Amino acid sequence: MTVRLVDWFMPNLASPFYRALNEALSVRSLTIDDICPADDDVARRVLHDYGAMFVGGKETLPPPLCVFTSGEDVAAFQRRAGKSAAKIGNDTIELQPAAMNALLKARATARGEGLNITPRDGAEAARRDFADTVRLWNSRFLPALDHWQERGRLTADETQRLRRLPTAEQVSAVLELEKDGIFFSKDFSKSVLYSIAAPGTSQHIAMLAFDANEFLDARVREILAANGWFQTVLSDLPHFTFLGLKEEQLPARGLKSVEVNGQKFWIPDVA
Ligand SMILES: [Zn+2]
Repeated sequence: MTVRLVDWFMPNLASPFYRALNEALSVRSLTIDDICPADDDVARRVLHDYGAMFVGGKETLPPPLCVFTSGEDVAAFQRRAGKSAAKIGNDTIELQPAAMNALLKARATARGEGLNITPRDGAEAARRDFADTVRLWNSRFLPALDHWQERGRLTADETQRLRRLPTAEQVSAVLELEKDGIFFSKDFSKSVLYSIAAPGTSQHIAMLAFDANEFLDARVREILAANGWFQTVLSDLPHFTFLGLKEEQLPARGLKSVEVNGQKFWIPDVA
């Protein structure tokens, strides 16, 4: 199946983000096409939405791919990156070692000021494996198929065919349907990718993401940022990404700041 998505998925290789990405990858003897093939629209969209983790500091190990397609590949990457575990409240969370050190430092600072930084929804706030991302995908994908079949927008044959597709192809097919207003988010009002990550693509798989309960507290966000943790995924408000950089270094990494709901996001500048 070939899927053509809208024009803004066409990469501008001269944009600040692509230039920074190219530089970051060349250090690891990789090219942009190695991690995100140009003809794979889902991978490109993932790169534009979640790409900040690919231009982080030296202590972070970004994934070798925009979209993992197997649990084995994810497990091998996570072993290579190294897992550091900590117990916060009743939950044991796991992150890359540098990300964990910085998080615990931020948490100590917050607690010293009478604040706190705690995981949202338990262990899932940090490391996830491939099966977790598939389960989350199905939690949106399957109810939406039923919903749109009931509404008469999809036939029983169509939903059956979609259910049987390999997961990666389900994502392409869903993005195609969403162009016609057949949305797969939880409330069927917007793109599924604003609701959850496509399977195999989450920054949580990279062990460089943490969902904090206290994201509405401006001081907590400031403390996290001072320790290299920034918000990099637009519209995912509790989600922080470990970049291991100072804020003033971010523009040179091809990231631009955008304010939404009074919160500052550093997102790939692909324009
Ligand atoms: Zn998250």
